[in-house]
Amino acid sequence: MRKGWFGRQNAAQKVVLEEMNDAWVKCNGCQQILFARDFERNLKVCPRCGHHHRLSARERIALLADPDTFVERDAEIVSDDPLGFPEYADKLQKGRSNSGLPEAIVSGTCTLSGIPIVLAVMDFAFMGGSMGSAVGEKVARAMEHALEQRLPIVICSTSGGARMQEGLLSLMQMAKTCAAAARLHEAAVPYVSVLTDPTMAGVLASYASVGDVVIAEPGALVGFAGQRVAQQAQVVKPPPNFQTAEFQLEHGMVDLIVPRKELKYTLHKVLRFFVGG
Ligand SMILES: [Zn+2]
Repeated sequence: MRKGWFGRQNAAQKVVLEEMNDAWVKCNGCQQILFARDFERNLKVCPRCGHHHRLSARERIALLADPDTFVERDAEIVSDDPLGFPEYADKLQKGRSNSGLPEAIVSGTCTLSGIPIVLAVMDFAFMGGSMGSAVGEKVARAMEHALEQRLPIVICSTSGGARMQEGLLSLMQMAKTCAAAARLHEAAVPYVSVLTDPTMAGVLASYASVGDVVIAEPGALVGFAGQRVAQQAQVVKPPPNFQTAEFQLEHGMVDLIVPRKELKYTLHKVLRFFVGG
């Protein structure tokens, strides 16, 4: 970085440098420098190596919902600090400022290529998309709304797993959300689960893996225990592509891997198969 004549950046240089920083992004896959504008246009997928970077919940809703059709529900449900866990209140605050959201999931109704659905989307920027009691409650309520209205539901997950700061209350969400998903199944209301990078642990081991159709984005980390934990357990040496969407497809945990550009189109085809039309 060049500095001004007197060893400091002058105001004009500072503006130019800030604009340059906004104009470029570095791909997390191939480490190439990309034009930010091309990167955004390509839905945050690297045009060189195809690496799918994370989307915020709002960005994914914009990708999937038809314009101006998304109506949010249960926005008032947010996590409390039931155990008085050290620093949890600060982390919640940080999660809110990082993501611009009150919780790690946004849920509501919309149409997807004209088909009315319930849509819930997680956001990794909020405490790693962790599932506390508020996230579990919002998932369960979204499913209950789908059941009452007999609307198909699409849930896009991204999560490190259960939120440890809420202890057992977080783990109970696994049973609650799976019970809600079972009621959907009994009533033959379609549930499509979309796994995005990363979908791990308590979220994968509950509602994210029990969809009628499970779709994953290319290269997404999808698994239960992380690579390090699996190695520590020394059960077997994990294969190199362990816990990727591709590995899970090969082993029957995932039905389809769909590039982001084709996600809305594929969801439309899948939903149309269930609801007709
Ligand atoms: Zn790349």
